[in-house]
Amino acid sequence: MNKPMKLTILGATGSIGTSTIDVMLRHPESFAAYALVGHKNVDLMLELASKVLPELVVMTDESAYALLEGELPKNIRLECGMAAAEAAAAHDDVDMVMAAMVGAAGLPATLAAVRAGKRVGLANKECLVTAGRLFMQAAKKYGAEVVPVDSEHAAVHQALAGHDRDSVTRIILTASGGPFRNRDPESLESVTVEEAVAHPNWSMGAKISIDSATMMNKALELIEAKWLFDAKAEQLSAIIHPQSIVHAMVEYRDGSVLAQLAMPDMRSPIVYAMQAEPRLESGIPWLELAQTQLLEFQAVDEARFPAMKLVKPVLAGEDSLAIALNAANEVANQAFQDGKIGFMAIVSTVEQVLAKTNNQAVQSLDEVWQLDADARRLANEVIKA
Ligand code: NAD
Ligand code: MG
Repeated sequence: MNKPMKLTILGATGSIGTSTIDVMLRHPESFAAYALVGHKNVDLMLELASKVLPELVVMTDESAYALLEGELPKNIRLECGMAAAEAAAAHDDVDMVMAAMVGAAGLPATLAAVRAGKRVGLANKECLVTAGRLFMQAAKKYGAEVVPVDSEHAAVHQALAGHDRDSVTRIILTASGGPFRNRDPESLESVTVEEAVAHPNWSMGAKISIDSATMMNKALELIEAKWLFDAKAEQLSAIIHPQSIVHAMVEYRDGSVLAQLAMPDMRSPIVYAMQAEPRLESGIPWLELAQTQLLEFQAVDEARFPAMKLVKPVLAGEDSLAIALNAANEVANQAFQDGKIGFMAIVSTVEQVLAKTNNQAVQSLDEVWQLDADARRLANEVIKA
């Protein structure tokens, strides 16, 4: 019998992290944990580590580390800080890294996994938006297989499998439209954080839930798709599909369109990223199409969702624009969560930062971090003004 695949889970205490653990525990013969990496959530990490029994737990936050000291079951080592997270991702015993931290903060550890040639399940889309070129170059150089965990991209991956890539004409990502798809645009100014986080179909972390409400999530996903599938801007689009059953479609030259369907539950793309074939049971409910009353599709209304207009020049442009879009969005999304700005100001902040950003290619990680810092500073200035 083969040995179980050993995983390091970055962002183990998050929505994707805990769903990954759920899948892992369903298949103990196939998967085991080398390391669980968390940030601040001590209680949840203690609970997860006691269930999973990894060799190592890393808390990137120092005070969380201090609180967890002496609490873990015997034989589980405890380490602290981002360098320890990077080492846990690159360790020789690790076969696969689930990249599920949130934001560009996840880039160093995810890149460490890529540089160590690991199989990388990529949920942390901000990594690819921020450093897509360097990320994919490193994957090629070090022989790392990057497999999408984002549901739309996992769907595209499945619709592309076994087909001639030059025959692809379009890649279409679906978007639910989030909680405000039908809401009067005038009233969006005053929506609360609770309303924005309450996604109709998916249960997710706060940041991505708000990104879904602004549709900045779909903007990030289009950029993510550009790098993952080596696609051109004009081949990529999004379509509103309120039921979140069809996750993406790939159109071929002969007019044939391949779609992937599943109930909206991240355990399906997660298990696919962990082992594509033979397929493993994921725990998600069966899709009963006869009971699903309707599958609807409609064009994205760019007046309602200006993020989808903003992303077009970013998709077609150089790396600096995507870095600025992501960094400004991270700052504005957090400012909204902190009650500093209204909902509509999230995308307008990103727009103003983009207007001040030069369109330039990026050659090094230092440049990435410089541009990321510039955009964060600009976003904070816009928010203060
Ligand atoms: P979440 O907020 O539930 O979890 C985030 C995880 O990252 C937590 O474990 C947290 O401890 C850790 N973290 C937060 N800030 C950190 C920091 N500064 N340094 C180190 N670790 C930090 O988020 P989530 O919904 O699980 O999303 C994780 C990633 O996956 C995001 O990039 C998101 O866009 C992507 N994603 C999520 C879903 C989903 O259904 N939740 C779907 C597709 C893609
Ligand atoms: Mg998605």
